[in-house]
Order: sequence, then structure tokens, then C-alpha cells
Amino acid sequence: EEKIDGRSGFCRSNSIFYSKRKGLAVPPNNEIDVTRFIACRAHRGRRALIEAGSGREVSYKELWRAVEGVAESLWEMGIRKGNVILILSPNSIHFPVVCLAVMSLGAIITTTNPLNTTPEISKQIADSKPLLAFTIPPLLPKLTAAAPSLPIVLMEIEGPPPPNILTTLHHMAKKEPAALRLRDRVHQDDTATLLYSSGTTGPSKGVLSSHRNLIAMVQIVLGRFHFEDHETFICTVPMFHIYGLVAFATGLLASGSTIVVLSKFEMHDMLSAIQTFRATYLPLVPPILVSMLNNAPSIKANYDLTSLHSVLSGGAPLSKDLIEGFLLNFPNVTILQGYGLTESTGVGSSTDSLDESRRYGTAGLLSPATQAMIVDPLSGQSLPVNCTGELWLRGPTIMKGYFNNEEATRSTLDSKGWLRTGDVCYIDSDGFIFIVDRLKELIKYKGYQVAPAELEALLLTHPAILDAAVIPYPDKEAGQYPMAYVVRKSGSSLSESQVMDFVAGQVAPYKRIRKVAFISSVPKNSSGKILRKDLIKLATSKL
Ligand code: AMP
Repeated sequence: EEKIDGRSGFCRSNSIFYSKRKGLAVPPNNEIDVTRFIACRAHRGRRALIEAGSGREVSYKELWRAVEGVAESLWEMGIRKGNVILILSPNSIHFPVVCLAVMSLGAIITTTNPLNTTPEISKQIADSKPLLAFTIPPLLPKLTAAAPSLPIVLMEIEGPPPPNILTTLHHMAKKEPAALRLRDRVHQDDTATLLYSSGTTGPSKGVLSSHRNLIAMVQIVLGRFHFEDHETFICTVPMFHIYGLVAFATGLLASGSTIVVLSKFEMHDMLSAIQTFRATYLPLVPPILVSMLNNAPSIKANYDLTSLHSVLSGGAPLSKDLIEGFLLNFPNVTILQGYGLTESTGVGSSTDSLDESRRYGTAGLLSPATQAMIVDPLSGQSLPVNCTGELWLRGPTIMKGYFNNEEATRSTLDSKGWLRTGDVCYIDSDGFIFIVDRLKELIKYKGYQVAPAELEALLLTHPAILDAAVIPYPDKEAGQYPMAYVVRKSGSSLSESQVMDFVAGQVAPYKRIRKVAFISSVPKNSSGKILRKDLIKLATSKL
């Protein structure tokens, strides 16, 4: 075996790249669930969660007490290992309580974007089949319309539950845990979360992440930061997405840090929260960084951000101009990057210092215990350093597979545990990953996933549309937005705005089609697959 240097990067005999980061200590006890794993570590901190708007605080003691109470109530309701529980909520200090309680029983958390429409939520409920849902009062009409017979627990209210509501989270959290608890044994291979992602092709699918996946990710999160002092993180990234879930509902709670929760992103609220709570870390997605940079003079004049030492960016690439422009305006802040997927339960690679981030365009080094191959999509051959191909990942955070979808699982995970990411990358001789393109169909609008297949299916229901293809269109602020190429039926005078309105009326705002062009036919290969690359070239040739 021609292994050059196993730890510093590259094994030439089979072209596997190994992580250069320090390895992970695998928990010896197979019967530890992720909640217990976190609870064992989080005793240091005082304040676990703060609600940004009201300043309301939850101490670590109160957090674990609430998790115990909710878990006990769920058990009494008959929730058992393997049952699916839905949470439909914006970010809140209660979100982690629900996740941790559900997972402590071996039950499975599924999440959905609160911006989703009733049919979108209904579709996900039909697939994941939850036994119970947690939501907040403003989202109740949407949830009951999506699933009229699903039992509901209301978060955010303290009084008695309204009619037709099972109970409140407040009430459940107060439940005394039984002295002798007979609970199902939770193994690390058991499923913990069921988050939805379209993967490399087609509509959204349930991603099965195990307790082992999450425990490994908690260790990666803990290893990534230097928690020398008490750290305060701002949470605007959605907790329903893998990024927010592994950071704010699990990983960072194991560090004893304080998390300041904003229910949604709003620039003024975020900056005020940094100032008020003297936040040290700001995790976000590139569009927010762009917006901070565009408004840098007024931000610097109006907010005291001196406490902030690190900005974490993930979910989409960062350009050199963005990094340097940001550092010029905020010289005391370090920018750290992360790359990952729902299917890799979060961070697959990251930069952990400013020096690493200044290798412009890099998504960093592989996460601990993670391996990579760069595979030529045509020949299937694995490629050496500095050659571009599809990134395959393997390691303790790679999902178990897609829920109830053997075919999608088989085409995404191979028998040796390699995940085809659908991202086109190369790895340099120092082990740094550079993402250069996307092989898969996925569109990312402001960090949110949009599946072209879903929009194409919708467009085809329009009586004047014969065929359609949806592609990502580059945008400085949003990263990308969905653009549609539409073939009109003969005699139709359908306009661009009519197409956009038709879609906008049926999907969540982040999925809206924001550009339309008409063509005579959609280019396809001999097996009928849309030649998206050709359309992307056509759309962007004038840029
Ligand atoms: P999601 O499952 O929603 O997290 O989306 C995962 C996809 O987002 C990846 O497969 C990439 O295409 C893209 N992505 C995530 N992080 C980055 C990054 N740092 N740079 C470039 N693309 C990224």
C-alpha cells in the first residue's frame, strides 16, 4: 500500500483522503442515546438558552428538568422507541427541549419549515407518519388543515390548552419524572432524526440519522471550538434544518455555552442581540454575511459588536471578496467556514482558523474521522489530489439512508458506506476541499433547499404548460434562485408573471420561481433526463 501520509492527507493506493483533524473518541457504551451523551457533558454552564426578544432565560438545570418532564409525559402518552414526532415551529427556547426529550426515548424527531404551505406540510406528514406534533399557536391552523386528526401539543402557552389540543409543553415539562423509569433501551444505531432533503435528485426524502451520527457530530462541534471561556452564540439559523439542529438543539448544549435564540432572522434584532448579550460567536449563512457587508458603515455606527470574535458560515460557498471585505470592516472577527449536508448530519468539512479560511474558496479540511474520495462521474474512477470530480464521504456522521426509499438509498450510499454528495470538488495537496460546482439538481436559495423536481411537477399541472425545467440562477444576495424554462402549449399566450404567480400561490416563499424564459422544447438525453447543465449555460451565458 502506497500510503504517503495517512494523517496528513492522502493514501495514493486507493485515493482515499483521510481527515487531518484529531480523531473522535467513540463512546464505549452502545446503549447511550444522544440526549444522555449531551446531558453528561453540559453541567458546566449556567445559562443554556435566552429568548432574544424578551430576555427570558433557561438555565441548564431548568433545561434538563424540562427535558425529563417532557420525556416522562411522552412516555405516559404511549410514545415509544421508533415513533415519529413532528415539530413545526420557528426557532424557540422550547425547540431543543422537545428534540432532546423525544430522542431520549428513542423516538424520532422530524421537522418541517414553518414557511411551508399546508399541502407541503401535509405531504411530509403523509410520508413520515408522526404520532404527535408540537407547534405554536400561530401555526395551528396550518397544521390542523394539513393533518386534521393528528394529536397536537402547543408550545409557548402557559394556561390550559384550547379545545382539541392534547396538552401544552408547559404542562408536560412540569411532570415529575418517575423514580423508577422503565424505558426502551436506545442503541446508537437507532434512528434519532428524520429531516427532509431532496438529495441528489427528485423530491424531498426523509434522511435517517442515528444516535451514533448525532453523537459523532456533537463531538465534532465540541472539538471545533475552543471553549476556553464561556461562549455566547446567536441562533438565527433555523433549528429545523440540520445546521441549526446540530448546533443549537444538540451540539452546543454539550459545551455549556449560552445560546441566544431569535425566532427568525431580522438584521436589527440580530445585531441588537449581539450587543445586549455580548455574544461571541455568530453562526449564519452567506446571504446574511453579504447583507452585513453591504450595510457595514451603518452597522458599525449603530451597534457595539466588540464582543464578537467569530462568524461561522455554512450552507453555501463564500467568495474571496466577501471574506476580505468583511474582515476589512470587522477586523476583530474571524470567519470560519463549514460545508455539509443533511445526509452527513451536518459538518463534513470546515476551516477552524482564519488562516485556513484565507485559502479562498475552500470548504476546509475533512471533519474528524471522515474520509473522502473524489470520483470521476463518467468513469467511476477515484481521482488524486487537485483533480475535480464528485465528492464522496464516509464516516460516523453519514446517514443510515432515506426513509422508506430503498432505491434512493441505493443510489446515494454504496455498500461500503460511501455517500455520494452530488457536489463537484477537488482536494489540494494539503487536504483542503474546494467545492466548484453541483452535480445534483438541488437549488439553494438563502441556504434553503429547493428541489427542481418539485417545481417542475407543479408547473406541469398548469393547463397551458406542455413541459418545464427548473434550474438554479446565480444571485449575489440569495446565492441562487429558481428559474423556470417553460414550453407553452400551442396557442397559449401565458406570460412570465402568470407562471411566477401560479407557482407562488402554491409553494413556500423561498421556493418561488423568480425568473422565467420560454423555449420550444426542454433539452433531454436519450433516457428523458433534463439536460440541466445546458439550460444553466444558456441562462448564464449573457451574464
Ligand atoms: P443541506 O442538506 O440543505 O445542508 O444542503 C447541502 C448542500 O448545500 C451541499 O451538498 C452543497 O451543495 C451545499 N453546501 C453546503 N455547505 C456549503 C459550502 N460551505 N460551500 C458550498 N456549498 C455548500
